[in-house]
Amino acid sequence: MAGLSRRIFVLGGLGAASATTLSTVAAAASPYPFKLGIASGEPAPDGVVLWTRLAPSPLNSDGLGGMTSADVEVEWQVATDDRFAKVVATGKTTARRDEAHSVHVEVGGLPADADFFYRFRAQGHISAVGRTRTAPALTAVGRDLIMAMCSCSAWQDGYFTAYRRLAEDRPGLVLHLGDYIYEGGAGKGPRRHVGGEIMDLAAYRRRYAQYKTDPDLQAAHAVAPWLVVPDDHEVENNYAGLVPQNSNDNDIFAARRAAAYRAYWENMPLRKEQKYTATGIPLYRRVRWGKLANFHMLDTRQFRANQACGDGWQNCKDADLDTRSILDTLKSGARPQEQWLLDGLAEKTATWDFLGQQVFFARRLGPDGKSSMDGWDGYRASRARIQAGFVERGIRNPIVLTGDVHKAWGNDLKNDYRDPGSAVIGTELVTTSIASGGDGDDITTVPDQSTNPHLKFHSRRRGYIRNPITAGQVRTDFRTVDKVTEHGAPVKTAGSFVIADGKPGLQKA
Ligand code: FE
Ligand code: CA
Repeated sequence: MAGLSRRIFVLGGLGAASATTLSTVAAAASPYPFKLGIASGEPAPDGVVLWTRLAPSPLNSDGLGGMTSADVEVEWQVATDDRFAKVVATGKTTARRDEAHSVHVEVGGLPADADFFYRFRAQGHISAVGRTRTAPALTAVGRDLIMAMCSCSAWQDGYFTAYRRLAEDRPGLVLHLGDYIYEGGAGKGPRRHVGGEIMDLAAYRRRYAQYKTDPDLQAAHAVAPWLVVPDDHEVENNYAGLVPQNSNDNDIFAARRAAAYRAYWENMPLRKEQKYTATGIPLYRRVRWGKLANFHMLDTRQFRANQACGDGWQNCKDADLDTRSILDTLKSGARPQEQWLLDGLAEKTATWDFLGQQVFFARRLGPDGKSSMDGWDGYRASRARIQAGFVERGIRNPIVLTGDVHKAWGNDLKNDYRDPGSAVIGTELVTTSIASGGDGDDITTVPDQSTNPHLKFHSRRRGYIRNPITAGQVRTDFRTVDKVTEHGAPVKTAGSFVIADGKPGLQKA
């Protein structure tokens, strides 16, 4: 922050008078613009993305949060302490109206594997302080890492207590695996969406703004950097590529999806590299965490073939078709995302290979032999190719991370699901919802266990998963809360497992 002392920066948040040296002086009496909180994401060995979005009136129906059309200068600071006595990086950026006055600052030049604090200033106001960290150098294992994972945070179904409990666990990295917002109308739960089903850019922007006013969600963003991928509800339930769920949407769906992707990027701590284009959003990417872990973040919605046999639970031959992929729209037989994943796994740069993705990966049969056409059971050739890739490339520790189903599962991945004696070749952790589905119940019996002996854990409560990761093991704690229809339930651990280095599958902790 050239020419601006730290003291002025700090005092500037306390009143208009001390902001006189700043160009923002005229706006010092403006309302507080940081009501959507702050966030960080995409940690690298030398930096991280810092995010905020200015919105003094978050629920305005134009989706612009009470901002005028003017661009606004936003200053940012990174320090090694939360009082900002040791500032290590500062800068200025512009919050632009055509990005809904969001900012995505890609900070570089920071030391690897270190903790930092950050904050913003705009219009004479200072934001809340967030904690973030850089990844270890590519040649280092680095410190142990607590990774927390979550999904399916339906505002209208309950309070975000699970986000608060996740923040209290002080993770070093948070994965959100989709359904960060829901697209429907008001809902019938303990609190309501503003507005009807969201269809256009203004409505998507306002929906994100409403969610981001939640203090528990803000706490979860402020505790650590996030890695995010969207699932279906950021656009529309169970859409596939450019095929909407509701055929009434056929004519407008391409425009609706583009608006949804645009609002997603505006509201997430993503890099410019992931910015929406006229036709899509380049989201699948690899984030390296030194020699400890790789996070392969997948997109199983944007390119997938339409669900087989009309979606839902089916006994469906088409689910086996080689020509259908959940990762790619096939073009002259090429599967770019799948090839990118297999090539990245083959590099073997880290002990643990996490696949951060959206929908249920392991085979799961219902009592009648049917399976869900929206998950990898509906794209069995895709799953077979990825699993064969694990085996053929000798991937030591593949762990698939999943959301979507609003229940927690812990699964062994099998070379051949029909053969109980077949080798375990990987592990899947499925996080329950933050709020979707309401309180749930205490049943923990694995459904249809006789046809699914590789499914080892099940819980129907809301919550998240906490994974302390070391070079020797990944520990998995399934964290649950008994109530989301009232705010503030305590958290407990419903089950704990260990995945040992070189030994795929879940062992009781
Ligand atoms: Fe969901
Ligand atoms: Ca979903």
